[in-house]
Amino acid sequence: MTMFLPLLLSALAAPPASPVVPVPVFVSVNACACVCVCGRTEAAPEHADSPNASAARLPIAPSPPRRVGRSSAPASIVILDAGHGGRDSGMRGPSGVLEKDITLMLVQGLQDELEQRGYEVHLTRDTDTLIALADRPRRANEWKRGRPRAIFMSIHTNSGASQATGFETYFLSDARTADERRVAELENAAADLEDRSTKSAPAVDWILESLRNDYYVRASNDLAELVQRRLGKVHPGPDRGVKQAGFRVLVGAIMPAVLVETAYMSNPKEERLMADDDFRQRMVKALADAIGDFFQRHAWAAGGDD
Ligand SMILES: [Zn+2]
Repeated sequence: MTMFLPLLLSALAAPPASPVVPVPVFVSVNACACVCVCGRTEAAPEHADSPNASAARLPIAPSPPRRVGRSSAPASIVILDAGHGGRDSGMRGPSGVLEKDITLMLVQGLQDELEQRGYEVHLTRDTDTLIALADRPRRANEWKRGRPRAIFMSIHTNSGASQATGFETYFLSDARTADERRVAELENAAADLEDRSTKSAPAVDWILESLRNDYYVRASNDLAELVQRRLGKVHPGPDRGVKQAGFRVLVGAIMPAVLVETAYMSNPKEERLMADDDFRQRMVKALADAIGDFFQRHAWAAGGDD
């Protein structure tokens, strides 16, 4: 013990440690390159990819237009929605052609055609994937970004008795007939295949109420009539007319919106027709013409008031 006493005494006699001198603090900038420019020494904001960050709302999947309108005039925006996708195949034709594949080919062809004509085009899906019905008009509104001159077009093929044929175009409103209700139920059934978390669509009834007498209902009806007129020039028919029903995929689109039932794929003849590249191309041109007619007629365009 005595051998340690001098050491202990010298330690007790030593001056206290120097006070800590502040030194510049380097704030580590992580790989996301968030650089604070305010110069203050407060804690760095929590980064979105930190495990503690609050869950950020998923961004809208980017769908940059491949080409924007050629002129300096406001862009005419067309949002194309290929019905179904992923585990929702839609209807299956007698020889196995799937609605989800036909609708995707149609919107891709229509995108090319419209872009060549100078439109800004967005697709709600451009691969074989399932997008929740409620998300489709939500994306459309994001892409529209409050600009005027935008429309939403959802493309489908119909199903019914094997002898049924023809084409019809719907806009969002109350179904008036049993057949309109049947088609709406058919197309709304996709919601059963969605994840629970994506099912929170606004109440259809409430939206229908607020839409009544609204401009968009009249403009949608007009667009539907123009689609029927143009399709009638290329489709063997019959022209089953403009119809109305409560389609979930149209609810919430703040723009004129229609759902086109391009043919009865339950009919072997129309299934073959829809699988034919030349026929689909004629249909694409007819739909593009109808869209052109619409924007010409509604030159002042459907409100950027949202
Ligand atoms: Zn469908």
